[in-house]
Amino acid sequence: MTDKPTAPPIPLTVLGAGAMGTALVRAWLAAGHPVTVWNRTPARAEALAAEGATVARTAAEAVSANRLVIACLLDDASVGAALAGVDLTGRDLVNLTTGTPADGRTRAAWATARGARFLDGGIMAVPPMIGDADSGGYVFYSGSSALFAEHRDTLAVPAGTRYVGEDPGFAALHDVALLSAMTGMFAGVSHAFALIRREDVAPKDFAPLLADWLTAMAPAVHLTAEQLERGDYSHGVVSNLAMQVAGNATLLRTAEEQGVSAELLTPYTGLMERWLAEGHGEEDGTGVVELLEVGRNPR
Ligand code: NDP
Repeated sequence: MTDKPTAPPIPLTVLGAGAMGTALVRAWLAAGHPVTVWNRTPARAEALAAEGATVARTAAEAVSANRLVIACLLDDASVGAALAGVDLTGRDLVNLTTGTPADGRTRAAWATARGARFLDGGIMAVPPMIGDADSGGYVFYSGSSALFAEHRDTLAVPAGTRYVGEDPGFAALHDVALLSAMTGMFAGVSHAFALIRREDVAPKDFAPLLADWLTAMAPAVHLTAEQLERGDYSHGVVSNLAMQVAGNATLLRTAEEQGVSAELLTPYTGLMERWLAEGHGEEDGTGVVELLEVGRNPR
């Protein structure tokens, strides 16, 4: 029996040789893809020539070299700046630059008007995770499903892929929602370390307790999701809001006693108090999601 012949790795272009762009280029080179790279500051791209990349002198030259073009630049404005006046006709532009959902939608319309197919991406990894299949890193993609299906194998080389819909804003929406949750989590982590810092508790002894506790609490998000989908925030309540708000007073008093500012906690505890004051003491804290909606009318 002979092995089924596999397609040769397709050539592609990467715009941007920053920390992330460089990691992407290396992963595709390691998998045998011919890579053309362009960077605004040439030295960063030239460093990759020794590893087998072809360095383009201009973004236009890089775009014309291959049908599949990956952009990984600082922000959406830098994508606009790099590609201003560049002919995108017939190109498949995959934008892995972090942006907002609106950036993704606007950039998709912009690329389509220039004759390109477009996918937006949100990278859920840091550079050392790129090209390491066991790292757990992945990229959210949204936009043309046909384009994603066509390039899925190539896109899967540097990191896992998660396609989240035709709406080109959805990759950024998922990316930023996860990053926002992470930001809140790290706010809590900072507060916790501040509480123990001046006591006889070694941060390195406390860290595993903290990591395990956050891991144990994380599955609570599934109940929140179920309550939101049912529109019933009293479904399956384990610790009701009245109890949680009473407990918050202890958190705030402890902060004061320990000489720690409660400024990372009070925006959240304040919203919990508001939802309680609106008569939802028997529910979970899920109603805070509603309070965050700008222009919301009270239920
Ligand atoms: P770097 O700061 O290392 O690189 C930024 C890149 O953008 C460089 O190639 C830089 O070129 C280029 N650039 C900046 N401004 C312009 C401009 N006006 N015109 C053309 N090129 C420009 O950032 P990263 O590589 O780390 O990040 C790239 C993208 O990846 C960002 O959107 C980031 O949010 C995302 N990302 C990064 C992660 C990380 O941990 N690093 C994690 C997940 C996503 P020059 O060298 O000339 O300055």
